[in-house]
Amino acid sequence: MSKTRFDVTRLLRRDIAQLEPYPAPQPLEDFARDLGVSPRDVAKLDQNENPYGPSPRVADALARFDWYHVYPDPEHRVLRERLATYAGASIESVVVGNGSDELIELLFRLFVEPGDRIVSASPTFGYYATAAQVAGAEYVTVPRGPAFELEAAAIASAVNDRTKLILVASPNNPTGNATPIATIRELLELDVIVVVDEAYFEFCGQSAIGLLADPAVDNLVVLRTFSKWAGLAGLRLGYGIFPQALLSAVNAVKAPYSVNQAAEVAGLASIDDVDYLRSTIARILAERERLRDALVSTGLLRPYPSDANFLLCDVIDRIAADIQKHLAERAILVRRYSGPRLENCLRISVGRPEHTDRLIAALQELS
Ligand SMILES: *Cc1c(COP(=O)(O)O)cnc(C)c1O
Repeated sequence: MSKTRFDVTRLLRRDIAQLEPYPAPQPLEDFARDLGVSPRDVAKLDQNENPYGPSPRVADALARFDWYHVYPDPEHRVLRERLATYAGASIESVVVGNGSDELIELLFRLFVEPGDRIVSASPTFGYYATAAQVAGAEYVTVPRGPAFELEAAAIASAVNDRTKLILVASPNNPTGNATPIATIRELLELDVIVVVDEAYFEFCGQSAIGLLADPAVDNLVVLRTFSKWAGLAGLRLGYGIFPQALLSAVNAVKAPYSVNQAAEVAGLASIDDVDYLRSTIARILAERERLRDALVSTGLLRPYPSDANFLLCDVIDRIAADIQKHLAERAILVRRYSGPRLENCLRISVGRPEHTDRLIAALQELS
């Protein structure tokens, strides 16, 4: 080789070179191997996945489909039409993505230049901060109220003339509470894009999509995903309802084939089997209340109210990291946080009844 080697990292964008990767949990396979158990024996209560998995029709539809050698329809007309009916929106307003994470990234690509401001209410979903950093944006969070409620006035006071997006997860992750529609309406008065991330919509039933019936509402984007309620986290399928005025810009910047045929087939099979999926949601919601009571009875954890499929809990008189470790040694994964208001909290996804039983038995060893 004739030329001298150089450090490829010197070519990185300077702002990117300084970024920390988005904190990802250890892969389930590795965790299970280290513990000497099968991945199936891990109570995976750390990522709000659906413990019942997808509709059984998904596997059938994936097996029967025989067009995997052909690129997907870049306009995804069949899927978008079904999503439009499901969500109560027009087909033109539906944008599909490789998980809702891709749509968050798409919003940044559409709107955010270095130095622009993004506003959200903390604590909230960590990927917003990552996406803002990658875009070179200023990410400003205002603290939520005592019950983790989002305060429209606080958001409004953080909005300046460089602000492009307000990001609101409702129900919020990790706190579990939804933001009332009246509060969303107040945010829409501001001259910025209001993104309502409804990743947990199906567990709560309250949506901002109805606000789009008002023709004056032209700055609302609603994001949804199949990752949580439909048990498709591994296939990566999300969608958004975007203002129609943005559609040509969306089509100009979006990667055309980011949603693959398998995700499309699985999404369609899920919508065909909504009644089944609703029955698993009902089981999860019933289990959430049983889990809540059982956690309270241990005296170790104090759960906050939840409109979603997880419970954020204060750890009482103990250290959250110690409890997380104790549970992990018993093949039970829960999520822990750092940062204001969450430093001694655990977030526990609602699993199957047997997961609750194992979790409670493991906690009782400590109490
Ligand atoms: C899980 C989650 C997402 C990610 O959804 P994907 O479709 O899997 O990318 C987005 N927003 C919130 C608030 C979430 O909790």
